[in-house]
Amino acid sequence: MSDIKDILNEIEGEISEKDKTLIDKAFHFAKKAHEGQKRLSGEPYFIHVYETAKILAKQGMDANTIAAGFMHDVLEDAEVSEQEIEKEFGNEILFLIKGVTKLGKLKYRGHERHVESLRKFFMAMANDLRVVIIKFADRLHNLRTLEYIREEKRERIAIESIEIYAPLANRLGMGKLKSEIEEVAFPYAYPKEYKLVTDMLKEKEVEYHKDLEEIRNALEAELKKENIKFDEISYRVKTKYSLWRKLQRYDMDIDKIHDIIAIRVVVDTLEECYHILGLIHSLWKPIQGRIKDYISLPKPNGYKSLHTTVFTGKNGIAEIQVRTKEMHAEAAYGIAAHFAYKENAKKKKNDDKEKFKWLEELKELNYNPNKPQSFFEHLKMDFFNDRIFILTPRGDVVDLPENSSPIDFAYSIHSDLGNHVSGVKINGKMSQIFSKLKNGDIVEIIDKADAHPSSKWLENTKTNIAKKHIKSYVEKNSLLAKLKSFGRS
Ligand code: MN
Repeated sequence: MSDIKDILNEIEGEISEKDKTLIDKAFHFAKKAHEGQKRLSGEPYFIHVYETAKILAKQGMDANTIAAGFMHDVLEDAEVSEQEIEKEFGNEILFLIKGVTKLGKLKYRGHERHVESLRKFFMAMANDLRVVIIKFADRLHNLRTLEYIREEKRERIAIESIEIYAPLANRLGMGKLKSEIEEVAFPYAYPKEYKLVTDMLKEKEVEYHKDLEEIRNALEAELKKENIKFDEISYRVKTKYSLWRKLQRYDMDIDKIHDIIAIRVVVDTLEECYHILGLIHSLWKPIQGRIKDYISLPKPNGYKSLHTTVFTGKNGIAEIQVRTKEMHAEAAYGIAAHFAYKENAKKKKNDDKEKFKWLEELKELNYNPNKPQSFFEHLKMDFFNDRIFILTPRGDVVDLPENSSPIDFAYSIHSDLGNHVSGVKINGKMSQIFSKLKNGDIVEIIDKADAHPSSKWLENTKTNIAKKHIKSYVEKNSLLAKLKSFGRS
């Protein structure tokens, strides 16, 4: 039932003997540590840590993370000491296990609990993202065995998973894990809504699959005819939870939603992506305004793909997504893809630094335990709102919260630039420095030595980093002004 071979099989590419030995050792260590313990389901406790490690292997995590996955509960739930882990497995694995243990410990209720768990997540993330990924795997397996848990507790865990774990997984680009968490948690978190969506989909299921099969076949024939190589053409029906979220925004009218069925074409090269998009549009008429180039302008979590929505005849509408293999892996595993077993970690490191700059910014937020509300407000502002990408005239990308102004943009580049904003060109046109920026805008700041922040800037900025600098400038200056007036009298 729980065989080490199944875990090793999940790992892509060649596994070194050293890693194999490590994973094997962790397997046996955890098995012994949890010997005799049972889960509420009646299963041996070891099954839980085994499944957690397996999810991590599936996500392509490195051997240390998989080993820590096996042992993530030994400090809290078994008679194992930190010294013992350090002696047997070394510093790094102990660090990961301690991180996971800390994340699980504090128990708060209601809003405060929510904020505190979020804060802990961010702190852990900033130290080592792998801690959070182990926690995701742990939570996913707990969700899968939720039926054995008391009802009220079940609901709380399910809602917490949807509100905290899934958005975080999404923010880290781990689309596959995010959907898995949502789908398992949905029926426990919102049973009525779950039933509603399930019934809606059931009614159309046969029709959807017939359409998908037809479109797929037509597209495949066309690609073959044109001699275009492709890796795979697959399709999916929208997951229940994301359909429910979307229904709420479309008056609960399923016919208003255009991406319930989607075809996905995976190819080798970037050029083929655009080539195939053109081909699709010659086969089926696209719906205006629904062609999205997330390759040139990726989503804030790094998602890349071409999307188009087309009329497929007989009033049918389908979304078609085209991407390369690499983009496909990124969309599924996100940040986890960067720890991939066979990946060259150094090459990706700099990319990550840029992409996850917002994590660093989060660390700078001060958390006051007496005022969790204010921490949460900051967090919501910078973290949960959708982000936009703004380009410098040179094509560098700056990641900002929605509704940011050119002043936010300037401060995110350099505080000195922020402190001297005098004008701005947006997409080549002179514009107001308090304008709201839109995704994809090209922004050029015009700075002058005698231009300075005023308190009015505060009302027209979104980011904490901009507000911090403006406040400190304004405060310093009013102090100077006072000192000057003292000097005169
Ligand atoms: Mn666990």
